[in-house]
Amino acid sequence: METELFVGGKWVPASSGARFDVLDPATSGVIASVADGGVEDAIAAVDAASDALPAWTATAPRVRSEILRRAFELMTSRTDDLAKLMSRENGKALVDARGELTYAAEFFRWYAEEAVRADGTVTTAPSGANRIVVIRQPVGVSVLVTPWNFPAAMATRKIGPALAAGCTVVLKPASDTPLTALAMAGVLAEAGVPAGVVNVLPSRSSGKVVSAMLRDPRVRKLSFTGSTEVGRILLAQAADHVVNTSMELGGNAPFLVFADADLDAAIEGAMIAKMRNAGEACTAANRFYVEAPIASAFAERLAARMAALRVGPGTDENTQVGPLVNEDTVDKVDRLVRSAVQEGAKTATGGTRPDGPGFYYPPTVLTDVRPESRILREEIFGPVAPIVTFTDEAEAIRLANDTEFGLVAYVYTGDLARGLRVSEGIEAGMVGLNRGLVSDPAAPFGGVKQSGIGREGGHEGMLEYLESKYIAVSW
Ligand code: NAP
Repeated sequence: METELFVGGKWVPASSGARFDVLDPATSGVIASVADGGVEDAIAAVDAASDALPAWTATAPRVRSEILRRAFELMTSRTDDLAKLMSRENGKALVDARGELTYAAEFFRWYAEEAVRADGTVTTAPSGANRIVVIRQPVGVSVLVTPWNFPAAMATRKIGPALAAGCTVVLKPASDTPLTALAMAGVLAEAGVPAGVVNVLPSRSSGKVVSAMLRDPRVRKLSFTGSTEVGRILLAQAADHVVNTSMELGGNAPFLVFADADLDAAIEGAMIAKMRNAGEACTAANRFYVEAPIASAFAERLAARMAALRVGPGTDENTQVGPLVNEDTVDKVDRLVRSAVQEGAKTATGGTRPDGPGFYYPPTVLTDVRPESRILREEIFGPVAPIVTFTDEAEAIRLANDTEFGLVAYVYTGDLARGLRVSEGIEAGMVGLNRGLVSDPAAPFGGVKQSGIGREGGHEGMLEYLESKYIAVSW
């Protein structure tokens, strides 16, 4: 297990010598002590990324592509070991950790394929006087900041396109889960990524180190995944230095079920949309809106499925729902459930925080939730499904859009025309139509409103790391 900073192709201690502990969410015990990068280390990482930039940009796209492809193969061959490491620091069940690693590795494969397709355009100016030649060039040194909920995938979703585009990076992983990011730095180095192209800087002083990097004029890009609250702070800082930004922020996904939906499929989709990663996902269904005639049948069946889930340590092969990542997250989930119940919601299953060690919260279904309840306004980030009923399509769309967020929505209906109409009417960057899972490395992932700016994945994901240069030329 690597526990030092990864800067300029070397494992190095923090210049201050400081370290911080990483906890096991299943026991609250310490599992590792990791070097705690400070401002000096952050600037050293930017030095390394900046020094490595010209050669990496000049490296043939095919060579960059083959390195990414090797990283995909190495990650895939180590899925089991990486899954155990991730499960230990994040708490997620091994089945979720393996699923995440498959998804995470796919970003390397997809961007290995995209690396050779940074195409430009040539057109004739409307006046006929000249040609308009547009070429794509890497934006430059990129700072990548990632959350704890998908410690591998949120990093590869940024590193893959950045490297494919010819950028060099400094990754600052979440301090709850730095070990997976450090393990991936090892994988990338082994795959042939040259020294300085990828640097990884765990830190307990995220605010200070990220600000210091944004103030450095060599840094030309910030790609952030995390809460809307922190995203707003970083957007303001990036504005001061006019740094190119991509922001993947919070969600508050509605899950709409119309009476004409296939109920079996809707329950299956609800379990995936709600319970992947124990609900700790920006894409997690946060608000269930079910058409009145089927609302009680849906709630009953969902509660039965949720109650049957096996909760336990993530590293236990039988576990389906691991502990949440830390105590603050359990406190927040518990507070939201209790306030909904005080307002009149009924608990169909779960709803009681267990005693004992570890950061556990049981799968919970709430019915009769008041539409203005806090639990429907904030990201729950836990295994809780609040259900509200609606009476017609217009009301369903109004309720779905009644949020400042707009990342993803889920719609279940047997009427395709209605499904597409509702999908168009919902203010979100993504819609799962009769599907509980939308994430796909080949598709553009991202949100509108307070859920972010920009897209990751697909061809769009690489454009975030490329600038268009226009050359006016006559021939
Ligand atoms: P967070 O608190 O915003 O932290 C995200 C990252 O930012 C971490 O690396 C964190 O470091 C760092 N950070 C915190 N404060 C900072 C500051 N002032 N300046 C610079 N960096 C700072 O979010 P989180 O709790 O880790 O993750 C959960 C959130 O991420 C949820 O809102 C979820 O919806 C969102 N998310 C969005 C997507 C998406 O694609 N839209 C995907 C996954 C998650 P520390 O760990 O050291 O605090």
